[in-house]
Amino acid sequence: TTRLVWICNPNNPTGTYETVEDIRNFIAKVPKDTLVIIDEAYIDFVTSVDVPTARALLDEFPNVAIMRTFSKAYGLANYRVGYMMTPLELANYMQTIRLPYNLNTLSQVAAEAAFDDQAFLTRTISQNAEERAKWESLFDELGIHYYKSEANFIFFSVSDAEGLADAWLKEGYQVRRGQREGWLRLTIPMAQDGAVMHGILKQFMN
Ligand SMILES: *Cc1c(COP(=O)(O)O)cnc(C)c1O
Repeated sequence: TTRLVWICNPNNPTGTYETVEDIRNFIAKVPKDTLVIIDEAYIDFVTSVDVPTARALLDEFPNVAIMRTFSKAYGLANYRVGYMMTPLELANYMQTIRLPYNLNTLSQVAAEAAFDDQAFLTRTISQNAEERAKWESLFDELGIHYYKSEANFIFFSVSDAEGLADAWLKEGYQVRRGQREGWLRLTIPMAQDGAVMHGILKQFMN
């Protein structure tokens, strides 16, 4: 029997987003003794709907858990701090298996400071959305196939993916290879780097 279903929303590496309604309809068909984890590592970057999180489902199903991290939009990668939201009964199970002192003091202080700085978060999200839109327009213009992203990266396909990745790397820009043949995952860069990368891409596609 299936014990666990893991839904990553937005998904990695595609960046695609599933609506809460679609997830609700799916979980309604899952047996109540199968745990459904919704991994919301990239949820802050979603701009296509007003309320992206599936948190409401915690009140509707006993077998759902939502996981978040400070590693992405809050900028605390490698601090190893995140949190899980579950119905109370599942939280009690988690309490029995988690390691003692699983969160160190420095990471906790950093996470609290990051959480207090909502202006940074807002700025990060809007800059990301703006730059993401520029990449999509350029991909459209160049006829490059990509998944519509609601995350801080785009997954796209070009015939010579390795060659393109090398061309960017030569100028100091590393993208993720090896997730699917002929596909690359690009983390949305700041505007200035984005412009340089666009130039390299246009030249490469010529
Ligand atoms: C980054 C990431 C996480 C969490 O990362 P941590 O640094 O371990 O908090 C979880 N799921 C996905 C899909 C991620 O990309």
